[in-house]
Amino acid sequence: MKYCSGCNQKLFLSSFHRAVRGRLGVAHKCKQCKSVYAKKRYQENRVTILEQHRDYYQQNKLHIRKAQQQYRIRTRDQRRHRRAADRALHRALHRARLLSATPSWLSVDEKKLIRALYARRKNDEHVDHIVPLKGDGVCGLHVHWNLQILPAFENLSKGNKL
Ligand SMILES: [Zn+2]
Repeated sequence: MKYCSGCNQKLFLSSFHRAVRGRLGVAHKCKQCKSVYAKKRYQENRVTILEQHRDYYQQNKLHIRKAQQQYRIRTRDQRRHRRAADRALHRALHRARLLSATPSWLSVDEKKLIRALYARRKNDEHVDHIVPLKGDGVCGLHVHWNLQILPAFENLSKGNKL
């Protein structure tokens, strides 16, 4: 425990930021007081501080840009993996939704019609459910009479609305 020189409260050391040269290895003021002080200081000197930041950026532009570029390169794989995982999840959810929206009483011929429709679809087109599978209060079926081929952008803008 230690007294804060700002609010004079006796607080756990975890309430203070670490400071190598401070007594007990922590700062004089508690985190709360420091944050209040920093906010006040920012509000009173906003223009000066922003100018300082701008000057710092101008003087270290190349260095900063290089660091940003390296950060992007370092995290590229991470972002790629995250996107791939998101897409896989999305596809899995979509498959599950199609499966649960496909009635068990559908005939073989009717299933063929669905497949034919997907086969007819061009690269810039989407197969759209006229009544959405996951609509607002309604659930369409994954059956050929509820399917239409749309240009990709139209399907995307439609969302799950009718
Ligand atoms: Zn304090």
